[in-house]
Amino acid sequence: MTQRSERVTIAGAGPTGALLAILLRRRGYRVTVYDARPDPRRTSEESGRSINLALAARGINALRHVGIYDALRGAMVPMRARMIHDQAGTVTRQPYGSRPDEAIHAISRGRLGRLLIELADAAHGVEFQFEHRLIHADFAAGSAQFVDLRRDALLEVPMRPLLACDGAGSQMRRSLRDAGLIDAREEDLAHGYKELSIPAGDGGAYRLEREALHIWPRGGYMLIALPNDDGSFTATLFLPNRGNPGFDTLSGREAAADFLAANFPDAMALMPDGVREFLQHPTGFLGTVHAAPWHHRGMTVLVGDSAHAIVPFHGQGMNCCLEDCLAFDACVDLHHSWEDRFAAFYARRKENTEAIAAMALENYLEMRERVADPGFQLQSALSRELERRHPGRFIPRYSMVMFHPEIPYRIAASRGLVQSRLLARLTAGVASLAEVDFDEARREIDANLPPIDQDLSSVMKL
Ligand SMILES: Cc1cc2nc3c(=O)[nH]c(=O)nc-3n(C[C@H](O)[C@H](O)[C@H](O)COP(=O)(O)OP(=O)(O)OC[C@H]3O[C@@H](n4cnc5c(N)ncnc54)[C@H](O)[C@@H]3O)c2cc1C
Repeated sequence: MTQRSERVTIAGAGPTGALLAILLRRRGYRVTVYDARPDPRRTSEESGRSINLALAARGINALRHVGIYDALRGAMVPMRARMIHDQAGTVTRQPYGSRPDEAIHAISRGRLGRLLIELADAAHGVEFQFEHRLIHADFAAGSAQFVDLRRDALLEVPMRPLLACDGAGSQMRRSLRDAGLIDAREEDLAHGYKELSIPAGDGGAYRLEREALHIWPRGGYMLIALPNDDGSFTATLFLPNRGNPGFDTLSGREAAADFLAANFPDAMALMPDGVREFLQHPTGFLGTVHAAPWHHRGMTVLVGDSAHAIVPFHGQGMNCCLEDCLAFDACVDLHHSWEDRFAAFYARRKENTEAIAAMALENYLEMRERVADPGFQLQSALSRELERRHPGRFIPRYSMVMFHPEIPYRIAASRGLVQSRLLARLTAGVASLAEVDFDEARREIDANLPPIDQDLSSVMKL
């Protein structure tokens, strides 16, 4: 590691801040990370609950880059398919990919976060200051104010630079917006979420298919469950905030119990504490953050959720943030001044993060409604068949996003649009794969979907 005297400050020790700290430390910078939370290595998992998320190829790529992936592998549970649970309790399996290695992976959020901080601290010498909250940024003076929550004392930190990885509710984003330096808005979804749990069976047995992401689609809302490595599942109920049903009208015990029993009877049979958890656990908010630009001079830049938080329906929020860190690191390598680095990072990532934000919103409708539709199931099966017949030209959009980190999000979105129109045409009036006109498919693919390598080579030149 080359030693530089230059100090970099990071606000936020979430996945983005911790990974960025490691990458900058590897380049020789002295890095201090401030976070409002207590040190997660000294506290038990959030309120004793096990909360997990889906890790896919983009995130794995970034974790491999800093050598942390192998330490996590043992704790990950591969999810190879969606299991769709209909109202009558019938379960249908929909594979995520065409190849056995095309899986996404459930991982404990707390374990991943702690490992990144441990690696940053112990192996790389990053300095962490927990219980320090960023409260204000003065862009004329070039300094930021933190409160040391343990001592109730103010701390002035120069922004030379300060990288703001302080999450969806970013204080730095709000300060930049309030100072008129960027445009930023938070677009709330009218739906929220609640985390529930499905405990393990006897001897740590899984009481649902282990290697799958389970979905109970119910049109206007849905329940999902991801496996943990101890036999339990973490379930999340997504529901409108207001209305009937809505979180506001289901605040009483009887209404909540009736709603859960009527809509998710098979899942409720596996959740002895379901109603209590529903009533006691907080309702989480969901939304999309739009900001432009993400930086001010060479002083500060937004990275991760602070710049572009998205709704969780593609399981890509953190994957995208970890990919941000690699892109940022490449910009540090390519440019000399922080101002040029920030501008290059924004230019590289803005369009891609907008693309994944839009795809994540679309996926909510897909998960809560379309997955249960036979027409959608036929199109999914046809996607996989077209990929088999036309490798390198037709790649299902879900696969481009989840399994192909070499394909930027914006290309996945634009090719995905061409493909979805083609799938609609090929399945119109058709009941099974055997009835699909594969000659027409070949003609259309040859005409409208150039080999993916062609698209990617033009990206490299940009
Ligand atoms: C219900 C749900 C499910 C999700 N599932 C997935 C999934 O399956 N796969 C996936 O890839 N992504 C998922 N995500 C998204 C993922 O959680 C985020 O994209 C990711 O955590 C963002 O990382 P970050 O480090 O940028 O922000 P955060 O994880 O929010 O970390 C921000 C850090 O900054 C600190 N901080 C905040 N404000 C201040 C301040 N003023 N001063 C100092 N420190 C501060 C916080 O304490 C925190 O440690 C999900 C999100 C939700 C809500």
